[in-house]
Amino acid sequence: MGARPLLNRRLAGMGTTIFAEMSALATATGSINLGQGFPDTDGPEEVREAAVRALREGRGNQYPPGPGIPELRAAIAEHQQRFYGLTYDPDTEVLVTAGATEAIAASLLALLEPGDEVIAFEPFYDSYAACIAMAGATRVPLTLRQPEFRPDLDELRSLITPRTRLLLINTPHNPTGLVLNDDELAAIAQLAIEHDLLVITDEVYEHLVFTGTHHPLAALPGMRERTVSISSAGKTFSFTGWKVGWVTATPELVATVRTAKQYLTYVSAGPFQYAVADALRLPDDYFADFRADLLRKRDLLADGLSAAGFGVHQPEGTYFITTDITPLGEKDGIEFCRTLPERCGVVAIPNVVFYDNTEVGRSLVRFTFCKKDEVLQEAVSRLQRLGA
Ligand code: PMP
Ligand code: GLN
Repeated sequence: MGARPLLNRRLAGMGTTIFAEMSALATATGSINLGQGFPDTDGPEEVREAAVRALREGRGNQYPPGPGIPELRAAIAEHQQRFYGLTYDPDTEVLVTAGATEAIAASLLALLEPGDEVIAFEPFYDSYAACIAMAGATRVPLTLRQPEFRPDLDELRSLITPRTRLLLINTPHNPTGLVLNDDELAAIAQLAIEHDLLVITDEVYEHLVFTGTHHPLAALPGMRERTVSISSAGKTFSFTGWKVGWVTATPELVATVRTAKQYLTYVSAGPFQYAVADALRLPDDYFADFRADLLRKRDLLADGLSAAGFGVHQPEGTYFITTDITPLGEKDGIEFCRTLPERCGVVAIPNVVFYDNTEVGRSLVRFTFCKKDEVLQEAVSRLQRLGA
């Protein structure tokens, strides 16, 4: 095979994702998995039944239409109207993807040229770095710093160069739980317009906002025409395994993203699309109860982690809590997470893997709270034995 590395150099060093690595560690050690963000309880029974029905009735068992089934595209457009007052044409302005992951990949691959720069909040969700690299572009971090993890908007301005092609914004933000406020959204929009930048917004945690409200950037004046909005059914309906995501944007942007999507998965799994169409039309109570339930779990885990001696950063959104392990006398999140299963039977994620700037993220560790109360309680009592 010669001396040439097998792996494309753009993916060098990207190995196994931290989520897969840590979930495997949890399984191997029988630990409580507060690492990878997936719920331990499935979403609404009627939504699960809708998938079974579609499958039995032979709806979606053969290749569904490339842009997604019309029922789901209509439901996505209705959802954007109902929650944000945003009007999208289901035929030309909505694209169904294999999870938000594919929407991110297709958008970046379709919109970027080699040499382009992409500004994104650091810590980055892991697939951003990989997809920017696969597109031959360069990531430019806007580091969110402790204690508040809010973006420095002057710094954002200073990072923009003639090569900047797009801003990749994630709000609510994984892993810090930051939710951009109105001033921050307005400042980002102003910079995007002033410098004629495209914007991709990853809003998969749109229904998990505990402080303030989620406002899509696309709803700000001058933003609809330059914004690719991305979301997914995985988080909102607790079916992360179904991998149904979507893009809403102008016809030109959707057609551009679709061009790449066609050659990634061609289409996404059919029967689940019918079920997600039903899920998006659930009454407001569903969304309110889901949020209230997760808020309670957030407080349960945050209190427990504080009592165990962690430095706790209270998230405004998502189902993750970022902690600092320095108060426990620890420095290195990777070392801490690798040994946590043997020390107390819990798995977490070292945030440093989401940083280029590794010194900034070294002592930060993320825990998820999308688990049953008794699981969170047991995890907390195990973690409280750490310092003993
Ligand atoms: N973006 C963020 C910020 C995420 O946390 C996740 C995790 N699931 C995704 C995208 C991917 O979503 P999906 O599972 O729908 O591909
Ligand atoms: N989004 C989830 C997390 O951040 C996991 C998704 C994945 O495994 N790629 O934990």
